Amino acid sequence: MKIVLARPRGFCAGVNMAVTALERALEIYGAPLYVYHEIVHNKHIVDRFRHQGVIFLDDIDLVPSGARVMYSAHGVSPLVETAAAEKNLHVIDATCPLVRKVHWQAARFAEQGYKIVLVGHRDHDEVVGVLGVAPGQITLVESLADVDALDLSSTDKIAFLTQTTLSVDEANVIISQLKRRYPHCVGSPKEDICYATQNRQEALKAVLDDVDAVVVVGSENSSNSNRLAEIAAEHGIPAYLIDGPADIDPTWFRGDEVVAVTAGASAPEDLVEGCLDLLCRTFGAHVEERMTREEHVFFPLPLELREKEPQPVA
Ligand code: SF4
Repeated sequence: MKIVLARPRGFCAGVNMAVTALERALEIYGAPLYVYHEIVHNKHIVDRFRHQGVIFLDDIDLVPSGARVMYSAHGVSPLVETAAAEKNLHVIDATCPLVRKVHWQAARFAEQGYKIVLVGHRDHDEVVGVLGVAPGQITLVESLADVDALDLSSTDKIAFLTQTTLSVDEANVIISQLKRRYPHCVGSPKEDICYATQNRQEALKAVLDDVDAVVVVGSENSSNSNRLAEIAAEHGIPAYLIDGPADIDPTWFRGDEVVAVTAGASAPEDLVEGCLDLLCRTFGAHVEERMTREEHVFFPLPLELREKEPQPVA
């Protein structure tokens, strides 16, 4: 077996910031610490923090009044911020700056009287947050059929936004259809799919012609990990989305294939290494890494965590 290891893969700057922020908050404030939604969409990371006393909640009303709560990398709706203020919660905002940028754009378009079309996946934490920025002014579209069903007038000012973790190709198809129906619609010059999502898709696509199967390390609820598996499947290549080495079923492989390995933006590298170890031990695989581009993006910690010293342990 040969393994072609796609690069870039795994942690993006937003996930790195959010995970480091939670580690730092635990050091400074100790447990219990509340997090609104999973800090990032990765089972291993969430389980690890749970064992350290972090309580993940999907309802801000369940956080005790006056407690400390961190917002996840996916951001929150303004309604959640209002509820947190009413409960006197001490908020640490670990929203990825690239998600926050989508919130700002939604707010700006709404102020200017645009009807906003958001391309994204219903119920994803990020989409719920963005929809809350301008309730009543944003319509979610998930498919071409949704675009066809839009009931906007040619005199409406129309703007589009996209979830940050979509498939670039799928989003382009939907946006092209939107532009066909509403040629006057406007959007950000570059759509909002983030650099990390685009780079991981590009790195995987670059190796697809040379491989027989694809292993994507990432959790089931990770949007960008799912998109990687879909891209492989659309090329007719069997793709396995797994949380880690324990999920690998050796019967998937004969042992003489070329297998691409990649990881979604919230999957830690130690899980990728565990998968490589297992494939090397089981099939005598050798690994070749292929890089399409380097990444040097870094997001600083939330303001309230910078410079703070950990509290002395009693
Ligand atoms: Fe931010 Fe993109 Fe990472 Fe999401 S995938 S946390 S938008 S950098």
